[in-house]
Amino acid sequence: MLKKDFPIFSAKGGSAFGGKNNKDLVYLDNAATAQKPRAVIDVINNFYTHDNANVHRGFYGLGEKADAYYEEARVTFANFINAKQDEIVFTKNATEGLNLIAHAWGRTQCKEGDEIIVSLIEHHSNFLPWQFLAREKKLKLRFWKPDQFGVLHIKDLEKLITSRTKAICVTYVSNVLGYIVSVEKIKESIGKKNIALIVDVAQAVPHVPVDVQYLRCDFLSFSVHKMYGPTGLGILYIKENRLHEMKPFLVGGGMATEVSLTHAKYLQSSHVFEAGTPPIAEVVGGAEAVRYITRIGFSAIQKHEHALVEDIFHRFEAYPFVRVLSPKEGNVGVVAFDIQGVHPVRGRGALRALATSNGVHPHDAASLFAERGIALRAGHHCAMPLHTFLKIPASLRLSLGLYNDERDIDAFFKALDDIKKIFD
Ligand code: PLP
Repeated sequence: MLKKDFPIFSAKGGSAFGGKNNKDLVYLDNAATAQKPRAVIDVINNFYTHDNANVHRGFYGLGEKADAYYEEARVTFANFINAKQDEIVFTKNATEGLNLIAHAWGRTQCKEGDEIIVSLIEHHSNFLPWQFLAREKKLKLRFWKPDQFGVLHIKDLEKLITSRTKAICVTYVSNVLGYIVSVEKIKESIGKKNIALIVDVAQAVPHVPVDVQYLRCDFLSFSVHKMYGPTGLGILYIKENRLHEMKPFLVGGGMATEVSLTHAKYLQSSHVFEAGTPPIAEVVGGAEAVRYITRIGFSAIQKHEHALVEDIFHRFEAYPFVRVLSPKEGNVGVVAFDIQGVHPVRGRGALRALATSNGVHPHDAASLFAERGIALRAGHHCAMPLHTFLKIPASLRLSLGLYNDERDIDAFFKALDDIKKIFD
């Protein structure tokens, strides 16, 4: 029903899928990026058409208006995650936010022999910054392993916490398996120890309410493009009592209060992390994405997506050659699977080569889905440590957005039937 809000689904002549119009597009790759509603596109268009100016420097009408939009957007994002206005930093994406924490906080606060706990289900964006920091500062990385199905348990985390632990880095929702991690329980395991809780909520924000007070986290990062907003914008939350523990990361315009030939004084607020011209139109458009989601409401979004998730898991049961990797419990609409047990020797022509004794390679399967108008993802999804742990090289992943409907799911299963026939 909500597809009508998203111009891409009615765009004429979209030919990404074998010459078909976009109305036939079955977009199930929302975990990679979500489509944009007309409301967001219009706000960005209007900003450039009527109000464009740089922020925090123009003493003229346009500049002041751009300032007002920009700072109002900060309040909108703060309210969205139940933070204070000054705890919000605009970044380029989730990746930049997580790197910023590692550089600006990790480098100043961690010393040789300190420990950082990272879960094995992380996206590389919440894994590599810590691996990098650990190598540079000679820290010990301790890995929070999931169970054999890839599910993290708090009891396993508790065993890893020591007097040297400085930070725990974890995702709220797995970008491969799609389930919600009980991040809100982690502070109980930390107790009174001064351990920073760093949460990647990139896959959570489109699906479930994210509340920094509920999660009791110190840092949190996400990208706005996955929640129906523009690319080029990320939100980094820095709990106010952590700010004094950080050093500037990028230096330049807009973040220094005094500059001499040899020294500089820097802003004492989180704005110190917004050096240079920020993504202004994206910030203004991003705030509209928050308003769009808020108008629909998370209870309606969750109800709708939950019904689709139930249906997908139920229908997969009729496909014994599909191995579903994601747990159903707590799944927000990100389902990883692979295709096994088809009969390669009976595959026809060139397609025979695609099937291995272990099934169809996810990349080949994704191409066969694409030929049938279905956009989904194949590969390791930037989560190689998880795939290595699960002993699989790659997987297929379908991921829902609020506009997906039963027709998309029907189309997906029809394509799966077709693909099976090729190998039968
Ligand atoms: N964290 C998670 C869980 C993700 O799924 C992604 C992207 O897929 C990222 C971080 C990185 O997001 P971006 O590429 O927008 O920085």
